[in-house]
Amino acid sequence: MNKYEELRIRNEEIRLFQTANIVADIYRANQEDIILINTMVKSYGRQADARILILNSQKKVVVDSFNSYVNKVVDNEEIRNSLEGKSKSATYMLGGKKVLQLSVPISFDMEEGKGIEGVVLISASLDKMISDVRSLKNTLISVSAISLSVSLFLTIMAANRLTRPIRSLSNAVERLSSGNLGYQMNKQGSGEIGKLIESFNEMSGKLKMIENNRKHFISSISHELKTPLTAIRILIDSLSLGENRMETYKEFLEDIREETIRMSQLVDYLLKSIKLEDVSLDMKVEDMAEILEDVVKLIKPYAQKNDVLIYMERIDRLSIKCDKNKVKEALMNLFDNAVKYKDPYKEENNLVISMKKFTTEGVLTIEDNGIGIKEDDLYSIFDRGFRVLDSSINMISEVNGYGIGLSIVKNIIEKHGWKISVESTYGKGTKFIINIPL
Ligand code: ADP
Repeated sequence: MNKYEELRIRNEEIRLFQTANIVADIYRANQEDIILINTMVKSYGRQADARILILNSQKKVVVDSFNSYVNKVVDNEEIRNSLEGKSKSATYMLGGKKVLQLSVPISFDMEEGKGIEGVVLISASLDKMISDVRSLKNTLISVSAISLSVSLFLTIMAANRLTRPIRSLSNAVERLSSGNLGYQMNKQGSGEIGKLIESFNEMSGKLKMIENNRKHFISSISHELKTPLTAIRILIDSLSLGENRMETYKEFLEDIREETIRMSQLVDYLLKSIKLEDVSLDMKVEDMAEILEDVVKLIKPYAQKNDVLIYMERIDRLSIKCDKNKVKEALMNLFDNAVKYKDPYKEENNLVISMKKFTTEGVLTIEDNGIGIKEDDLYSIFDRGFRVLDSSINMISEVNGYGIGLSIVKNIIEKHGWKISVESTYGKGTKFIINIPL
């Protein structure tokens, strides 16, 4: 605002200098006609809203637009300067009011400082201009204050709108961390926050599922351990009751031995699945077709017993670096599942194996026409402890497992740098595909 005030004063100064020069020119041309000069000075004075004086070289007032100074001698720095041929301006405080005063020389000889005939002196009050600037200043201050408060209000509203979903998200994270697994947030907003909430809901759902699988896993393991333990207790109880023949002891002890073997197998299986992550592979160049044949030979009696036919389709020869025993273990699990999850209502149950060699990879497929897997369960079957808790499986007696097999398979396959995927249609069958980069 101070700069603006300075600029306005400067403009006023230029305007008044122009007026003073015009007055000086007219005076020079018409100095004989004092009536014309008087009228002209008054008219310019009114126009410029200023007092205009014309002084002769003795500083005596010849014309005054307000009349009162005529014939009086006026002396100040501006007049003295102009009598020396210079134009001059200055601002003064007069009776508490700011006044701009300026003067220009009236010279007949246009050369500077020569033939100075007189001076045009103009003084104008800057009060109106200053009060204009002041009122503009006040208006600006109030407009700024209003717009500042409005924008502050809008900022607070916007910030509130933005932080509301973040606050409810942090609330939801707290609920989750305090054990409320599976907690779902309402969808709020779109864009990044919306995506974040979607990911949160997905994560929370997944955690709930992992927790459920873990509980189920523990309960099925406990159940599996409890059954042989109960059997052993009953066998020992029966032995301790009365006199028994040596054969009975032998028979019962054999049963106890079998139960303990079953238990130790289960414990081995568990330990293996937990330790697998740290196991290092014994890599050698092997013939994959040979490995497949070995595993098929092993599984065949079990498949036959369960009426599952094994078909070896196109089997290309494939030499690849791998840990033979681990690969066998993985394949055993897949073949075992194909037999285990056969569909008893189908006329023929089969397991079709193929291995095709392409330029960049070998593709091994293991396909069965068993009960299949529902689409929703497909994403989880490789998770440790996951079993399809479906009534159709429970209906098939003898189907037992701990939900570890496929997690072991995936681990072995990925440790080799290979890939495993699954395709399945519920009621039709399942196909596991292993991609072996060459
Ligand atoms: P499990 O010990 O229960 O067999 P897995 O990890 O081997 O554990 O398999 C996980 C789940 O995937 C199984 O409980 C079963 O529901 C499903 N599954 C695996 N293989 C097949 C298959 N060939 N056909 C149908 N379902 C299968």
